[in-house]
Amino acid sequence: MPPFFIFMLMTPSATGLYIHVPFCKSKCPYCDFYSTVKLNYTDKFLSALLKEMELKKNLLGTSRLTSVYFGGGTPSILTGRQLTTIFETINKYFTISADAEITFEVNPENVTKENAKLWKSLGINRISIGTQSFDDYVLKFLGRRHSAAENIEALNLLTEVGFTNISADIIYGIPGFDIKSIEKSLETLINHSIKHISAYHLSIEPNTVFGVLHKKNKLKTLPDDDSLKQYLFVCNTLKTNGYNHYEISNFSLKGFESRHNSGYWFGMKYIGVGPSAHSYTGDKRLWNNANVYKYIKSIETGQNDFFEEETLTTKDKFNDYVITSLRTSEGLSLSRVKNDFGNRYHTHIINTLKKYEDLPELLILDNDKIILTDKGLFVSDGIMADFMI
Ligand code: SF4
Repeated sequence: MPPFFIFMLMTPSATGLYIHVPFCKSKCPYCDFYSTVKLNYTDKFLSALLKEMELKKNLLGTSRLTSVYFGGGTPSILTGRQLTTIFETINKYFTISADAEITFEVNPENVTKENAKLWKSLGINRISIGTQSFDDYVLKFLGRRHSAAENIEALNLLTEVGFTNISADIIYGIPGFDIKSIEKSLETLINHSIKHISAYHLSIEPNTVFGVLHKKNKLKTLPDDDSLKQYLFVCNTLKTNGYNHYEISNFSLKGFESRHNSGYWFGMKYIGVGPSAHSYTGDKRLWNNANVYKYIKSIETGQNDFFEEETLTTKDKFNDYVITSLRTSEGLSLSRVKNDFGNRYHTHIINTLKKYEDLPELLILDNDKIILTDKGLFVSDGIMADFMI
């Protein structure tokens, strides 16, 4: 059965604020998230960010926030003064619900007792930590600035300071490394009773160092069979240890599903601030330029042309629903398609289903729901494309 929290998130009252902190100490060779290593822009960025919050305070028609998420980049490189100012501004323009989830992405090397205490004192109640691996060779290959021992120290410190809701990221599917390395990472996280684990397959993106190496034939990708084997290993290990596989890459112990990310998949309205951040109002999508210099200049000069927007058509909303629902354990509801989008869309789904009649290893029809299996989730891009219009 789908977890109860998912139904709660589908209520129209869920609203989020995403804050993109676009700075990193160095650029990891696999990463294509928008960030810059020019840390001297931090204060100017901060002034622009605060102004953007003021500009967008009425975007959702409510000031109430049920979720706040600091992502990046590396939010944990912000100082106490900078973070305090951001929280003061959030509280000036919005009302954070008493039970809101407030997530802060951190890198292990920034976790000190002093920082962790500060984050807690600001009201942050969920930490998402980029551990990535507990194998030093993998960490080195990924260009990370921390060791496996520092990962463990960071987890211990966060727990000691009183964070009970910790999510850890790991990366698998790395060429040259086998299942033993992933097994070690999963075992460590399970032994530390980490409540939420996001496991991502290494993806080689064109505009990254790895992408360039791959193009020059200097970096191979893992054969598909090995990738699938590793994905199924992650899914099975975590399920055996009590984790609910509630989205392609996300696993949690009961009650610790990410409310913010689940919100994205279940139609939560949200405001995104900072370069490259996206917003969703229910009828419109807005996206900020992925360029911190242009972002600062646009807001400083009052031009405010740092974002673009589009009004969503019924077809856009249907395709969004296909992509978001099929990636979760909740699945795609046939009756919802009929009620929300009409017969044409419902017929399209039914017709597409026929193609999968003889492929029960990829998806199942459970009464009203189309739910992808683990194997189906692994090849979900192709399946989603089939169901989209
Ligand atoms: S992976 Fe994280 S720390 Fe590394 S460059 Fe990307 S955002 Fe920065």
